[in-house]
Amino acid sequence: MNRNIVAGNWKMNLRLQEGFDLAHILASELGPADFAQAQVILGAPYIHLPGVVEAVQGIAGLHVAAQNIHQEDRGAYTGEISAEMLQSLGCGYAIIGHSERRQYFGETNALLFTKVQKALEYGIKPIYCLGETLEERENGTTFPVVERQLREGVFGLNAEQFGSVVIAYEPIWAIGTGKTATPEQAQEVHKFLRGQVAQHFGDDAATQVTLLYGGSVKPKNASELFACPDIDGGLVGGASLKVEDFLAIIRSF
Ligand code: PEP
Repeated sequence: MNRNIVAGNWKMNLRLQEGFDLAHILASELGPADFAQAQVILGAPYIHLPGVVEAVQGIAGLHVAAQNIHQEDRGAYTGEISAEMLQSLGCGYAIIGHSERRQYFGETNALLFTKVQKALEYGIKPIYCLGETLEERENGTTFPVVERQLREGVFGLNAEQFGSVVIAYEPIWAIGTGKTATPEQAQEVHKFLRGQVAQHFGDDAATQVTLLYGGSVKPKNASELFACPDIDGGLVGGASLKVEDFLAIIRSF
């Protein structure tokens, strides 16, 4: 089975109509030849989700993700969105643990584990993000940091649940900075992550899990990154807002 995915993370960008236009253009541009290379996921802001779900309806290979979910089923959590609501919308994925959520909203591995579990309970596939800061890379602790994020964030799942999880390695120093990890740096961490999955869930799970790289993926560096044996695609921020760039990245396989 082809495990490749390219996911866009629109973050807090685009007016409503701009988001709908982007989704409709991608829906009409992308076809079976693209989806034979990779599944495509659009990570849209909450208010865009209904229109984006509608735009991709009936297109196998094109999916929609929320950028966060709340960890409780429902209740008095003003301003929050639940997995149940996303399920009722037909939203298939949720980005969980993006470094901006960890950094600006204090989301910890323990909290993220509860969000991952909640998403799965409602049939939503988590795209679980992890990655080290520049300081952690420079002091040589990248591997222990990402190992802990994996262990505390998703290794408490059972093997069947883990089979629905996508992992995105996003070195924080590369997000939105224009500084991409070299293919060697990214591959080294991806290989480590796949090895950790093999140790915990076995070789089949390690072969099947999708490991995305995120951090300034652009048309000019995507092919090199995606050619690495343990990189199965990308989580793309800035470049996912531009049709041409996002299409070029998807077509980089
Ligand atoms: C992201 O938002 O996850 C991301 C990787 O952003 P960018 O591609 O802009 O670095």
